Amino acid sequence: MTTTVTYPRYLSDDWHDPGRHFDVNSPATQTLVGKAADCGEAEARAAVDIAWRAFESWRAVNAFERSATLRRWHGLIMAHQEELGRLMALEMGKPIREGRAEAAYAAGFVEWYADEAKRVYGTWFPSHHQGKRLLAIKQPVGPAFAITPWNFPAAMLARKAAPALAAGCPMIVKPAKQTPFTAIKLAELWLEAGGPPGTLQVLPTSQPRPLTQVMMSDPRIRKVSFTGSTEVGKLLYAQAADTVKRLSLELGGHAPYLVFDDADLDGAVAQVVACKFRNAGQTCVCTNRVYVQDGLFEPFVERFTQAVEGLAVGDPLDDATDIGPLVDEAGLAKVVEHVDEALSKGASVATGGRATGGLYYAPTVLTNVTNEMAIMHDETFGPVAPVVRFEREEEAIEQANDTPFGLAAYLYTRDLGRAIRVSEALEYGLVGVNDGVPAAPYAPFGGVKESGIGREGGPWGIEEYLEIKYVSIAIG
Ligand code: NAD
Repeated sequence: MTTTVTYPRYLSDDWHDPGRHFDVNSPATQTLVGKAADCGEAEARAAVDIAWRAFESWRAVNAFERSATLRRWHGLIMAHQEELGRLMALEMGKPIREGRAEAAYAAGFVEWYADEAKRVYGTWFPSHHQGKRLLAIKQPVGPAFAITPWNFPAAMLARKAAPALAAGCPMIVKPAKQTPFTAIKLAELWLEAGGPPGTLQVLPTSQPRPLTQVMMSDPRIRKVSFTGSTEVGKLLYAQAADTVKRLSLELGGHAPYLVFDDADLDGAVAQVVACKFRNAGQTCVCTNRVYVQDGLFEPFVERFTQAVEGLAVGDPLDDATDIGPLVDEAGLAKVVEHVDEALSKGASVATGGRATGGLYYAPTVLTNVTNEMAIMHDETFGPVAPVVRFEREEEAIEQANDTPFGLAAYLYTRDLGRAIRVSEALEYGLVGVNDGVPAAPYAPFGGVKESGIGREGGPWGIEEYLEIKYVSIAIG
């Protein structure tokens, strides 16, 4: 397998070279993966011009033709599943099995929106005037700009670009600086699928601020979709006000997992491990705090610790690896800081609790954790699970909701009434009941409170790229 990639150009209406490049290093080996084009304000301005021109023609393309192009794109992504999985393993350290699964997940959005393109229905509705006929039609909102994170470099691009393209909106994507190559590869496959030049542009940059500023201040960009931290999301929310852009924000979380006394122990352990440790704990829906009811606490901690000790830490390119490295120094530093602070305030290590060289951190279980510790409020984004004891259902719900975030929450129980009661009481955008990995291309994904606005996925996701126009027709 080759381990270097070079896309020193970026993809607009064609390949362009900005003449500036930045290095992308492997988090696993800290060696150079490749050089990416470093786009700035001039490239951003050119991209908006291109998107604006592309909008005129792409919106006029018959929905069935747009659908067919998306279908071909889906086929090509699946045909390149292995290559995409490998790219993610190289540029951000995702274990290759997870990378392959992500490529299929990304393709799932493309397939779903290939079908949705044909279902953008309007409405003919009654009027109290005898001589009027009333219509509500849906039209593409216009050129869209997306900022994607490094932790799901393929899926987040597809979750935004597929509904935009299906609706008739050209999309400009600014990928995270850690993961430009997966994004470029997807855009290259879009062209190969027959996607018209300029409808999907990818502009990598090492300096997101100036490039983004151009997009946010240009009135021709009608829609912005962002996945990333709450801090940057708030900045974009404010910037969008100037030109009153439509906005979707998928931001940070602090997901609780409530395990009740009546849970099936093996099932609960398996789901919490899957939820917490995929992508080395670097997903916005990974649980950040596990609350276990009194009666099950000791056996849960014992079995959970054994399961975590069984996770294989290693080379992301190795099929046997469950846990790869953290994405970068800052990511590792935050994990170290959270665990060290918790230990200094009295937490105990059931397993792990230390960095193991390079950007690796041992999968960790902490007990004796209290609300005074940062790990209970701030997203760790690493392979660390604090486990806390609770007694009553109401107490667990109160603790679960005691956060400004509201993205994902989970519970494990065999009691149907409790499952429904607790799901309804949790102030979150998505709830997994006995299911630690609920996201799917056809389901609504998004948060409440400071975890964001808008929903991606399923029939909800395409509405974010559609405007409703009311047409009143006097028939005389
Ligand atoms: P981040 O906000 O720093 O980066 C995300 C993206 O924003 C990157 O493309 C980055 O280059 C860009 N960016 C950073 N500063 C910017 C600026 N000033 N202007 C414009 N763009 C800017 O987040 P991160 O630390 O890289 O990613 C992890 C975060 O993303 C976590 O908080 C996680 O919870 C969140 N996340 C949320 C979801 C979701 O769907 N809700 C999914 C994945 C990750």
